Amino acid sequence: MGSGLKVAIVGSGPAGMYTAGALNTKCAGCEIDILDKLATPYGLIRTGVAPDHQTTKNVSRAYDKIMENENVRFVGNIAFGDDISLETLKSLYDVVVMAIGTPKDKNLGIPGEDKNGIFGAQVFVYWYNGHPEFRAAVPHLEVKNAIVIGNGNVALDVARVILKTEGEMLSSDLAEHAGDHIFGSPLQTVRIIGRRGAEHAQFSTKELGEMKDLTSANVMTDGTLIPDKFSSEDAKTEKVVNNNLALMREYAQNAPSDDKRSLYLDFRLTPTEILGEDRITGLKLEKNRIEAGKAIGTGDFIELPCDLLVTCIGYELTNVGGLPVENGIVKNVDGFVEDGLYVVGWAKRGPSGTIGTNRLDSQQVVDRILEDTCGGPDPSKEGAAGLDKYCQTNNISVVSFEDWRKIDEVEKKRAGEHSPRRKFVRTRDMLTLVREENKE
Ligand SMILES: Cc1cc2nc3c(=O)[nH]c(=O)nc-3n(C[C@H](O)[C@H](O)[C@H](O)COP(=O)(O)OP(=O)(O)OC[C@H]3O[C@@H](n4cnc5c(N)ncnc54)[C@H](O)[C@@H]3O)c2cc1C
Repeated sequence: MGSGLKVAIVGSGPAGMYTAGALNTKCAGCEIDILDKLATPYGLIRTGVAPDHQTTKNVSRAYDKIMENENVRFVGNIAFGDDISLETLKSLYDVVVMAIGTPKDKNLGIPGEDKNGIFGAQVFVYWYNGHPEFRAAVPHLEVKNAIVIGNGNVALDVARVILKTEGEMLSSDLAEHAGDHIFGSPLQTVRIIGRRGAEHAQFSTKELGEMKDLTSANVMTDGTLIPDKFSSEDAKTEKVVNNNLALMREYAQNAPSDDKRSLYLDFRLTPTEILGEDRITGLKLEKNRIEAGKAIGTGDFIELPCDLLVTCIGYELTNVGGLPVENGIVKNVDGFVEDGLYVVGWAKRGPSGTIGTNRLDSQQVVDRILEDTCGGPDPSKEGAAGLDKYCQTNNISVVSFEDWRKIDEVEKKRAGEHSPRRKFVRTRDMLTLVREENKE
């Protein structure tokens, strides 16, 4: 079934890679092109996952194995919507799968959000991870009081990365420009703020526990807001939350000290207004009480000093290339968008779950694709050959997987003694390197 099927996957993050892997296993002889707007593969594994969480990034080895198959190609540096349209892709391939993630931060929707010093998590994280489009997004970190809004692991990532010392980041692949700003920053206080209670925070215990290992900061919280026990019908959730609460009770015993910065975990607060003229200087928040798991405003407000605000409150997809976008995702039914067009990963179901969640999700969409295409490939579709012709005609300098391997090798070679890589942060530099290497 499906032999010779020509498939374009747009996006080489986990969802795109698991789609390619499942197609390759279940559809002998299919030809798969994985397009990405970046010259580097694997999406948020490179540009999202924290630079000091190298073990998590090791999942890319499994993706490398998928790329070793002759019928699977990486075609980097081609942006869907700008360089190539849906119409063109559909004219070249039997099946097009969108795996483009949800690249835009959601807004808080409060007055003053346009001031300087405010960043969505994705922008901030892209910046410290060396995403080429965001390498200059955070011009400086001359800040004393940072607030991170959100109670998920990304909020912990952001706080940890800006608090870690140069020594603690030696074995990371933090982008060099970010290190220059972060290590010299006069940062004194970081607050991670959640709307609901400590028992509703979505932290993983491992990441929450890492906070106590920070050498430059004391982690603290208000013990009166930490419940003794949390009960849930879901035994797994109950265990995780109770482990988290135990850690937070430990943190509640800590006190500020002169020799360290302060990291506070604050709960039951909703941001209502950003204070300051052009730049943020403070944040106004309303205190909440919790009713049936919901945060209800009490009408009691506080103001906190703040000169850096990072919002980690979710992501969405906005209109790109004429795709039908609704509620921040590509409108779909179980991954089916329209004849010949499918969607997987965060672009399909929104930004939730771990890297592994995308695996089963992509496999299910592949099953649907194979059911729909049981009539076999359309001989008029040119696939890879057609894409190559298109790129030549339109002067698009694509990056192959072999080219990426060269970039990867140089990044590893030029890294410091303990660091896995020193990233290129300009696509232009990567293209120059590839051109030079290919001349030899
Ligand atoms: C900051 C952060 C940290 C995270 N850390 C962890 C973690 O430690 N552990 C964990 O399990 N999960 C983590 N996750 C979740 C995990 O990264 C996601 O589950 C996963 O990356 C979603 O995969 P995806 O393929 O749908 O999207 P993405 O990984 O976003 O991949 C989308 C790909 O599409 C490409 N693309 C976008 N637009 C276009 C276009 N127009 N044309 C061509 N290509 C395009 C992008 O360049 C990218 O390569 C984290 C998420 C974030 C945001």
